Amino acid sequence: MSEYNFTDNQIAIIEKLALEQSLTDLGKLLSANDYRSEQLETLLKVANALYRSGHPIIDDQKYDEYLDLFKSLDPENPFLSNVEPELLIDSKTVPLPQKMLSTDKAYTFEEIKKWTERITKAATEIDFEQDLIALKITPKLDGYAAYDDGITLYTRGDGTRGQDITRAIERGLKVANNANRGLGPGEIVIKKSYFDEVLSNKFENSRNIQAAIIAEKKVDEDVQKAIDDGACVFYPFSQLSNWTGSIDELLSNFDSILEKMWVAVDFDIDGLIVETTNAPIKQHMGATRKFHRWQIAFKVNDESAEVEVIKVVPQTSRTGRVSPVAELVPTKLSGATLSRATVHHYNMVKTNGVGPGAIIKLVRSGLVIPKIEAVIKAAEPELPENCPSCNAHLIWESDHLICPNKSDCPAQTENTLIHFFKTLGNVDGFGPKVIEKITQFGIKHIHEIYQIPKLKYVEFGFGDKTSQNLIDQLQASREIEIEDWRFLAAFGVSRLAGGNCEKLLQHHSITELFDVSVEQMVTIDGFAQLSAEAIVEGLANVKDEFFKVYDLGFHLAVTDKASDREDSDSPIAGAVIVFTGAMQQGSRSDMEKHAKLLGAKVAKSVTGKTTYLVTGEKVGETKINAARDKGVSVLTEQAYLNLIG
Ligand SMILES: [Zn+2]
Repeated sequence: MSEYNFTDNQIAIIEKLALEQSLTDLGKLLSANDYRSEQLETLLKVANALYRSGHPIIDDQKYDEYLDLFKSLDPENPFLSNVEPELLIDSKTVPLPQKMLSTDKAYTFEEIKKWTERITKAATEIDFEQDLIALKITPKLDGYAAYDDGITLYTRGDGTRGQDITRAIERGLKVANNANRGLGPGEIVIKKSYFDEVLSNKFENSRNIQAAIIAEKKVDEDVQKAIDDGACVFYPFSQLSNWTGSIDELLSNFDSILEKMWVAVDFDIDGLIVETTNAPIKQHMGATRKFHRWQIAFKVNDESAEVEVIKVVPQTSRTGRVSPVAELVPTKLSGATLSRATVHHYNMVKTNGVGPGAIIKLVRSGLVIPKIEAVIKAAEPELPENCPSCNAHLIWESDHLICPNKSDCPAQTENTLIHFFKTLGNVDGFGPKVIEKITQFGIKHIHEIYQIPKLKYVEFGFGDKTSQNLIDQLQASREIEIEDWRFLAAFGVSRLAGGNCEKLLQHHSITELFDVSVEQMVTIDGFAQLSAEAIVEGLANVKDEFFKVYDLGFHLAVTDKASDREDSDSPIAGAVIVFTGAMQQGSRSDMEKHAKLLGAKVAKSVTGKTTYLVTGEKVGETKINAARDKGVSVLTEQAYLNLIG
């Protein structure tokens, strides 16, 4: 008998690795305290294969411990100089269009600071002006690494050779944000909210699903549905939301920037990527065999603690839903002192007994607000009868307590206004404190805020300078261009977050949208009957306010209509292409004209939005590498001509 109970899936994968050790030996290894380097190598290989296949055997932290120990015992071992290998499926490997490296890791502020010092030093060495050093932070998606060159989708494999998994695209896997193919490196990921709501009963973790998406065998029907619903996507790194700023800005606002980025996407993440975007510095720093030196991952270890609940406080949200917030006996977890945690809903408070004196198990993953994992000891719960904000009698709606007072509940009003400015995101100034103050004077609607004269702000108790600043900010919020889908999302209609807004606006203009019927909406990909009904009702509820705000004159960038892109079935329809160098088959300007006829956009310089860089003769390596670094697919003239047929 092994001392470890492997699951059938784990056994199948371990057998594929064709190790010399038996399962019993492996089981013993897992519970040993003291290792020789060969044993550790086996352990790391097994742990890696199981992790990649979605049947993990140890957590990340334990893996890193083994790895560190292995490094100290056998620093020259070739296993260390390879990129952690992905699961080996029984199919051949092909060279990747571009090398995919891993990322070096940092676990503390000090390590990040040291890394920024290396950036500064590199800048000095090449006389690059310190003021111009730019950093970027993106979420580090915890999915399945892949590379998309526009034709083939590859696994990362060993970083140089991967496997062709284009079948995932053939199964309907889309690129995140409806972006084009060919954006280079990224991850296959599944929406966290979708996993929790739809798939968590059937699948242990999201890795099982990632493995199923790319597997050679037929896809499970629930996974196929998740692909069809757009919940599983290939997310190119170049499409990720990001923070940009200087080294000083990063170091002086480290915690708040990280906390914001940590919750920026609805996908599992296992850290944040910090990198410089200055091409000369990147080029100068280069890479080791494993990592780019100009990039680092910031990671935080998961930790859990058992904590006593002092009391549970109700809080009314923008939608009227009342959230239970548990006040806790202050406890240290992952370096921070926690004193509050949000319970999922009041039904959990009621059925699991989250009352004063209850003991709960909290898990803090990264910098995310801690999650209640389990109730260890239950206690008599306290259920509120009235809204803590407006005193209206609360009603149950499935698992939630709801304040039914839609028109006159201060908490709902405040949170709606806060949501508007937060989603718009193009100005500062209208945060919770300011909103709380002005709502006390009877301001209830977004359009009213825009009509408050400066004198009134002074009457509300703001200083002269602050009042002028608020007026200026409101002006700026209308002048600074924002996407129309973001503007729509700011109204907080249920089921109309950014992604759905964008999808709808690809079919209807923002003003037409309010006249779209449920029957029309369900014809759009991704909108089922129930969602469409909720959205149509939600839009009707905000229509009046929407147009009052809309008529104030915002600078909206209109979402491209789907028809503009789908009209043409050319392989480059919708792609953004840059031509460079001397072409063989004709003049560059003729090629540009032809590309436009085929529905592509032609640009003059390469940016993160570029799909293809088509290179003629005499194009420098630097230019090509810079484009690849931005995730752009680089094609020779011939490869391009093959592509367009
Ligand atoms: Zn209320």
